[in-house]
Amino acid sequence: MHHFIDVLLPIPLQKAFTYHITKAESEFLEIGMRVAVPFRKSKIYTGLVYKIHNNPPTAYDAKTIHQILDDQPVITKSQLQHWEWIAGYYMCSLGEVMRAAMPNAFILESETIISKNEKVEVKDTELKDEEFLIYEALQYQSSLKINDVVSILDKKRVLPVINSLVEKGVINLQEELYEKYQPKLVRYVKLHENHKSEAKLQELLEELSRAPKQREVVLTLFSMEASERRPIKVSELTDRSGASSSIIKSLIDKTILEEYHLKTDRVQFDGEGDADTKQLSEAQLEALDSINSIFEEKPVALLHGVTSSGKTEIYVQLIQKQLELGKQVLYLLPEIALTTQLVQRLQDYFGDKVAVFHSRYSGNERVEVWHNMLKNSEKAQVVIGARSSLLLPFNDLGLIIVDEEHEQSYKQFDPAPRYHARDAAIVLANFHKAKTLLGSATPSLESYYNATQGKYGLVELNIRYNNVLMPDIELVDLADKYKRKRMKGHFSDRMIEEMAETLDEGFQIILFQNRRGFSPIIECTTCGNSPQCPNCDVSLTYHQYRNQLRCHYCGYNSAMLQNCQACGNPTLDTKGFGTEQIEEEVKVLFPDKKVARMDLDTTRGKYGFEKIINNFEQRDIDILVGTQMLTKGLDFRHVKLVGIMNADNLLNFPDFRAHERSYQLMAQVSGRAGRTDLRGKVLIQTYNPHHNILQQVSTNSYKEMFAEQMNDRYNFKYPPIYRLIKITFKHKDYNRVNLAADWYAKSLRQIFKANVLGPEFPPVSRIRNLYNKNILIKISPNQSLGKTKEAILKIDNSFNAVKDFRAVRVVLNVDNY
Ligand code: ADP
Ligand code: ZN
Repeated sequence: MHHFIDVLLPIPLQKAFTYHITKAESEFLEIGMRVAVPFRKSKIYTGLVYKIHNNPPTAYDAKTIHQILDDQPVITKSQLQHWEWIAGYYMCSLGEVMRAAMPNAFILESETIISKNEKVEVKDTELKDEEFLIYEALQYQSSLKINDVVSILDKKRVLPVINSLVEKGVINLQEELYEKYQPKLVRYVKLHENHKSEAKLQELLEELSRAPKQREVVLTLFSMEASERRPIKVSELTDRSGASSSIIKSLIDKTILEEYHLKTDRVQFDGEGDADTKQLSEAQLEALDSINSIFEEKPVALLHGVTSSGKTEIYVQLIQKQLELGKQVLYLLPEIALTTQLVQRLQDYFGDKVAVFHSRYSGNERVEVWHNMLKNSEKAQVVIGARSSLLLPFNDLGLIIVDEEHEQSYKQFDPAPRYHARDAAIVLANFHKAKTLLGSATPSLESYYNATQGKYGLVELNIRYNNVLMPDIELVDLADKYKRKRMKGHFSDRMIEEMAETLDEGFQIILFQNRRGFSPIIECTTCGNSPQCPNCDVSLTYHQYRNQLRCHYCGYNSAMLQNCQACGNPTLDTKGFGTEQIEEEVKVLFPDKKVARMDLDTTRGKYGFEKIINNFEQRDIDILVGTQMLTKGLDFRHVKLVGIMNADNLLNFPDFRAHERSYQLMAQVSGRAGRTDLRGKVLIQTYNPHHNILQQVSTNSYKEMFAEQMNDRYNFKYPPIYRLIKITFKHKDYNRVNLAADWYAKSLRQIFKANVLGPEFPPVSRIRNLYNKNILIKISPNQSLGKTKEAILKIDNSFNAVKDFRAVRVVLNVDNY
């Protein structure tokens, strides 16, 4: 028997905390169960049992646990191993990984209040003894706390009892509490037993001959029951029969119909799951064969297939095969909200087997997916999700697909764990002896480099499905157009001509501008001053729609100014432009066309994206203006023209990846033009039409871009040749940040010499009143990453021992892509 457990808490502490357990608890507890434990000033936290052992802690007296929350582990062994790898590799605590992984509803942070559900009548006989004790207590008291339940039942493990009462609908748990999860109940109806036989039904129909609407409902239900042989929802019956819910209610009251409830998953699917998969083209089949043969030898394959080459249909075949083998598949996407189209497509093929793990879903929906996975339920065989779905409890994973693998949003920036989902996916797959398929029309230099080195297998798919031609890309020289006065606002004559032609032919247009708002900078034409954010070192952006100035870093906003704050003159002018201004100009150029905008400002809320995407698909929108949100794997059939309003601010971005990213972004946006059977047209407006990247985009020369960029990366010691660790210091006091960063850099230089860059302030050096300063460590390919991190952690420990520095936040970012 064991006396102690180590408990993982969802906080950035390096170590798990040790608690004392009783004999009974020791017999019951397993690694991966949740426990509620006291921690710091008697706050109660939910933690996970991480180790069970006999070693009392040396530095403190072990407290006892508060209660046990599960009767079975809620995480799996391989899941925990994978979390450990993430914590180690990305230099954060296991508790931080746990925090990122577990739905909020799993983590208790305050005390639950239990109250009686007044709407439900309970027969004593339906309740087990312990359940009855609680039910009875609630007859005398309006509410109970978990602690009260612990004393009523005289045991610590009360959650199963409480859960069961919740499931029976006897009690309610209140907000912010315990398990926020409540199964959702759906109303069903059936014909009452009394009328089931044919003779009885006949009788009933005659009775109802003077109530034709009710008669219609009964007939409809009868035929639905006969033909579908499954429970019929009240909502289906109202839809099908056209009857109002009050008619159904009166039929229930007359005991002609009987109502009942079933627990359902909140996440409902429309797809039937019986669509036949498409017959692959010859090129697709070849690619599929290559992937399969690579998987016989290597764990990772990279599918480099141009936009619209039909990569998704290849994924579908691979998924199908895994399902036949009884294995799970994880389908990773950079941004799940943008992919309703894909989810729909997969649900058409695989129906209920598809589970979506969505950051915008409520806690309940996420808990449902978690439980389904833990049970290895039929419902969680194909999991679609953004990066955090990597952290779910997989049982028997066969394949991970990382779609759009080049997307930078796969890397988490804040908070820790700052993991890269593509890389962490490959590790996860290895734990399961599964395969990973990376897919992209514009692979990251990292992955393509790994493929050229033979580390990954490489499959190239160079033609579009149905042999649709790649779009015709034309560069428009803005300097020339301005000089010859061929511009209207931000639109060149070429752009306007092509737009008019496209609209005349009845096709749609996408316009890309990578900045939102109306104009990024307001500047006084008298004194040159621009209004700044009071909390960040950055100019405010003008949003015309709300007549506001806004900060895109901290959300600060104020009404638009009439006069310059520096010189007092009413000469504030806008400089640069954003999506909002483009939208305005389009409305003036094409007043009778429908224009919409898709950027962070128009897509808030759970269905923000879906609405715009649907309207565009339904052709209720002729011209869609947007930011990079537009680039992510959308498949529209009627877009003939794509306009990139200004390529230069992409190319000039101060980052060693700016050119790679510009290529990816422009190639991806261009890829939205022309699908199925029509050739698309792309216009790129720029002051630098001879820029190599623009030449490469317009000739679709990925490999040239790769070779040239790799050359730079070699020369300047950047990834994928060298690895990077970025260390950021944050504090509200400018001097303290400087001192701290200098101290740290000096210590690092003693070991890593010239491979330490900085400290340097980033372009925006103050955000939310905190100064930021960065140090970059470049790690050569033959240097041990493990040893490097050890050395950094040692320095970090000494740093934290300096009193003046303790308040400075240090952020470690490994593989800062
Ligand atoms: P990608 O993911 O490479 O951009 P998609 O898989 O979205 O390409 O395919 C582009 C379009 O071609 C989609 O509309 C898709 O339905 C269609 N398509 C692809 N493969 C097939 C196929 N084998 N049969 C019929 N249609 C296909
Ligand atoms: Zn700000």
